[in-house]
Amino acid sequence: MAQNHICELCNRSVSTITKHHLIPLEKGGKKFETLSLCPTCHKQIHALFTNRELATHYHTLESLKRDQKIIKYLRFIENIPADSYVNIKKSRHVRKSG
Ligand SMILES: [Zn+2]
Ligand SMILES: [Zn+2]
Repeated sequence: MAQNHICELCNRSVSTITKHHLIPLEKGGKKFETLSLCPTCHKQIHALFTNRELATHYHTLESLKRDQKIIKYLRFIENIPADSYVNIKKSRHVRKSG
């Protein structure tokens, strides 16, 4: 499989890339305000933060990269081969808010 996408968060080269809306569509996010993320990073972001948190605190790549939980995650994911499956668990406060 060709690995020709670079994830903007973990910088790994992956075969599948997803689009993350920095401001969720339901909060008025526009189509062009997106990040290219590997499926694992994308899942991780939504597991850590609610849409409201994403819209208010994490609407730039820089603000995501500054977060302690993301920093910890990136330290972990950089040693995981691209395209391998990683089980991401939703944090409790995300589960609670639905
Ligand atoms: Zn990634
Ligand atoms: Zn997303």
